[in-house]
Amino acid sequence: MQERSDAESRFSPATPSPARTTPTTLPSPSSPSPKHAFDFTRGCVHYSRGCKLRARCCGELFSCRFCHDLETPSHAMNRHLVQTVVCCSCDTEQPPGPSCSECGHNFGTYFCAVCRLYDDDVSKQQFHCDKCGICRVGGRDNFFHCDTCGACYSIELHNNHKCVPNSMQRNCPICYEFLFDSREAPQVLRCGHTIHRKCLDEYWAHGGYTCPLCKASVGDMQVAWEVLDQEIRCTPMPEEYASKRVAMLCNDCHASGEAPFHILGLKCQPCGSYNTRQL
Ligand SMILES: [Zn+2]
Ligand SMILES: [Zn+2]
Ligand SMILES: [Zn+2]
Ligand SMILES: [Zn+2]
Ligand SMILES: [Zn+2]
Ligand SMILES: [Zn+2]
Ligand SMILES: [Zn+2]
Ligand SMILES: [Zn+2]
Repeated sequence: MQERSDAESRFSPATPSPARTTPTTLPSPSSPSPKHAFDFTRGCVHYSRGCKLRARCCGELFSCRFCHDLETPSHAMNRHLVQTVVCCSCDTEQPPGPSCSECGHNFGTYFCAVCRLYDDDVSKQQFHCDKCGICRVGGRDNFFHCDTCGACYSIELHNNHKCVPNSMQRNCPICYEFLFDSREAPQVLRCGHTIHRKCLDEYWAHGGYTCPLCKASVGDMQVAWEVLDQEIRCTPMPEEYASKRVAMLCNDCHASGEAPFHILGLKCQPCGSYNTRQL
C-alpha cells in the first residue's frame, strides 16, 4: 500500500449531507497537537520519535516515510517493509520495537509493530485497523470497519450509510488522490460514493451539488427544491407551454417518467427532486 501521509489516515466520513451542514466527527486534522507535534528536537516535522527508519527501497535512514518521500520523490517508501530502525540516542540498528534494545531509549509513545509507526503525540488517538492494514487516527471507538466499503468509517455511519463495494478503494473524483490512506478526511455522500471533505466543500462552493460519479445529489436538497417550487409557481410558462409535459429521468431516485415542462427545472414526481435529466 502506498504511504500517503501520517501513516494514519484521518478518517471520519461524516453523515451524508453536503458541506457546511455536515456534523463532523473529524479529529481536528489541522489543529496542532498540544505538546509533541512539532518538537524538532525529537524526530522530524511529521513525527516526534526517538529512532530513524531504514528504508527498504533505498537503504537510507529517514526519520519517517514522509521525509523519505520528500527527499526521494521518485518512489514512495513502504512502511510495512521497514526491517530495522536506528536509535537516535546510541545509534544501534535493530529490528523495530517500542524502545532501544541496547540503551532503553523510548522510540515513541505510540508504536505500531505492523506499520513501524512511532509517534509521541498520542493526542491523535492512533489505532491500527487490522482489516485496513494501516494505522488511523481519531480513536478506535469512534470508527468501525465497513467490509463492503473497504475502510474505517465514523461510528455514526454504522448501519447509516449506503454501502458501495470498495468505495474507499478508489481515487477522490475531484483531486484523484487515492482515498483509502489519504490524510484528508473523506465524506460519504448519500449515494455511498466517497470524496474528500475539502474537495466536496470546494466543489459545493462552486455550485457542484451532484456526485461526480453517479450524478445523485450529494446531500439533502429539500430546501433548494422548495425554493425552486416557489420560483416555478411564481414564473408560469407561456400559455403554449403551460400543459407541455416532457420525459425525464431522476438522478436521485432513478425514476423515469413525465414532468411538467418548465425552464427552471423538471421536477421528479415520485421524489420531488429537480436533479433530473430531460430525455
Ligand atoms: Zn518526517
Ligand atoms: Zn539506543
Ligand atoms: Zn499500524
Ligand atoms: Zn479499517
Ligand atoms: Zn459501507
Ligand atoms: Zn480530493
Ligand atoms: Zn455517487
Ligand atoms: Zn426522483
